[in-house]
Amino acid sequence: MAYLRSQNRSGAIPAGPVPADSSDPQVIFPGPMPGSYKTEAIVLRSIRYGEADRVLHLYSATRGRINAIAKGSRRPKSRFGGRLEPYFRLDLVLHEGRGELATVTSAATVAAHPELRSNGPALMAAARGCDAVLRLCDSEEPNPPAYNLLCRYLDGQEPPSGVSPFPVVDGAAGQATALAFRLKLALTAGFSPELSSCARCGESDGLVGFSGAAGGVVCAACERGGFELSPAAHRFMVEALGQPLAAAPSAPERDLRQVDRAISETLEHHAHVRLRAAA
Ligand SMILES: [Zn+2]
Repeated sequence: MAYLRSQNRSGAIPAGPVPADSSDPQVIFPGPMPGSYKTEAIVLRSIRYGEADRVLHLYSATRGRINAIAKGSRRPKSRFGGRLEPYFRLDLVLHEGRGELATVTSAATVAAHPELRSNGPALMAAARGCDAVLRLCDSEEPNPPAYNLLCRYLDGQEPPSGVSPFPVVDGAAGQATALAFRLKLALTAGFSPELSSCARCGESDGLVGFSGAAGGVVCAACERGGFELSPAAHRFMVEALGQPLAAAPSAPERDLRQVDRAISETLEHHAHVRLRAAA
């Protein structure tokens, strides 16, 4: 991992703030220390690092992707407790040092999703959702729609009432929600497939195929190089993009497999990202 190597080269992250002008004794810094900022974020991945630390891959509400180190977080009496685990939604204070990793200075839980961790299919869905964000949303630019979508997806695996709005069971229903999430995520990342007319020639009738290279549905004359797309699979994609995640449409498994292939091939060709199987 590139950032770990560069971290070793550049040495330890500075522990404290670096004043803008430390030679002037009159300079004081009210409020948060320079280089520090607050943001809400979801833990996508948590990696043990060194003797007692963790490296966190975060997706944040205000800064997109952040990689951060939580020093001492694996010590028994760490102030972070057990909240630096995947799928936690946290209020964080981070400090930007000279290295590529920010340092976590405080973390408060917004949502822990405890039920999700005891439900196998929900846990798998959360893992795949976070993995898709990790691969597709790698920019440091804030992307509030992507962040909110991930929050809703994780919340949907485990709502406060204990009755999930998403069918998190195995099979077609769980897969439909997972695919609706991927389509919406692709949209927030700027890689939504063209679904209204042939992605090659613009024809709006007789759309019988899908081409990942063309980035959308294709007509019979342009289908070469693509694959056959059923009307149900096409309809699923249009409806999934137009509906809230909790109202994701359903479709037979055969059609959902086509949807999965359509999303995967679009992202491989245009985002150069290969996602794990959706379900
Ligand atoms: Zn065409």
